[in-house]
Amino acid sequence: MGRVTGSVRTAGCEWLQYDYGPGLVPEEGPGPFTMWRYRHLLPMSDGPVRYPLPIGGTPLLPAPALRVALGTPSLWIKDETRGPTASNKDRATALVIEDGLRRGLDTITTASTGNAAVATAFGAAAAGMRAAIFVSIDCQEDKLALMTQAGAWVFQVPDGYAAAVDLSRAAVEEFGWVDRNTGVNPLTTEAKKTVALEIWEQLGRRMPDVMVAPVGDGPTLAALEKGFAELVACGVAASKPRLVGVQARACQPLVRAWQGTDPAPDELDPGSTVADGIAVLRPAVGDAVLQAVRSSGGAMVAVSDSELMDAVGLLASTAGVGAEPAGAASLAGLRSALREGLVNRNETVVVLVTGREIKAAGSPSRGRVAVADRLDDVRQAFGRVPL
Ligand SMILES: *Cc1c(COP(=O)(O)O)cnc(C)c1O
Repeated sequence: MGRVTGSVRTAGCEWLQYDYGPGLVPEEGPGPFTMWRYRHLLPMSDGPVRYPLPIGGTPLLPAPALRVALGTPSLWIKDETRGPTASNKDRATALVIEDGLRRGLDTITTASTGNAAVATAFGAAAAGMRAAIFVSIDCQEDKLALMTQAGAWVFQVPDGYAAAVDLSRAAVEEFGWVDRNTGVNPLTTEAKKTVALEIWEQLGRRMPDVMVAPVGDGPTLAALEKGFAELVACGVAASKPRLVGVQARACQPLVRAWQGTDPAPDELDPGSTVADGIAVLRPAVGDAVLQAVRSSGGAMVAVSDSELMDAVGLLASTAGVGAEPAGAASLAGLRSALREGLVNRNETVVVLVTGREIKAAGSPSRGRVAVADRLDDVRQAFGRVPL
């Protein structure tokens, strides 16, 4: 069982701490390659895992044709599109639901720009939980359809994503629901750090030199840093990789903060990039991202929409990996980092491909979608249906 010894607050995040040592790291050799392999470094008690969908254990691909195309002989793709709903949001969803099941709770909530919502809807459906999801009013129809098909209740919040987060968190307080909000529940970071643990094992218990990841709200990158740092703390690795964070040029608050320069108005325009998964104006754990990038000796880079679309094409044509623009941002960022001399071509580099577009068959079930800007609207919607 993961022995959590306490938690520390750094850069606005609550980070769980363990009694670190080599005994927390799984032994080399067989055993199911899933996220639960790292349960000694997760805040879980013993006993069988109840979460029913397969989670973690995603492939680390050598992508030989991509290596040739970029002239990077030690490049790897960590393919997080292989989860139940094709994005890295599946890991956090799984651990938060597992914890909720163990605590006997029946409803999970999150606010989301899209992928976390779909992951939560499907994960809750599989686990027999009710999902109440808060999205901004301009959430894609396709994602609404996926959520309602999975039986989730969706609340469209007119004031946008930040207001959706506030409402979801107020519902947690008021109704005692399970909180899947990214960057808020420390379990989300714990789950996402397992990507780093897997990469280290998949490289033969070695650290990469450089890890490239997209940055929206920031937990993906901050959690990678925590995972790598814990391997060092456990005494099984000597040093962390450099972390390179990637944002879209049209929404790059953290790239500008890292450079110490003010963003132009057209660099803070989340609606105008194809990479909706990382278009976050006020990243929930932005300070933790900057600290992780700085302490690892890494960098932040911004990429244009055309660079993002080129990366989508390159991943498909040289690696056979389908990615949405936000999912391909790491590859676009790596190309930019190579040009700027931030990464050497011969280094061992891992690019994290975070998600693939999934299409819905059909349209949203309107009976499960309501507009809400107060908790009373939520109460009212649930008052009309048998709980
Ligand atoms: C959420 C998401 C990201 C960004 O992750 P954060 O943890 O919010 O920084 C990147 N790519 C895809 C596909 C995502 O869904």
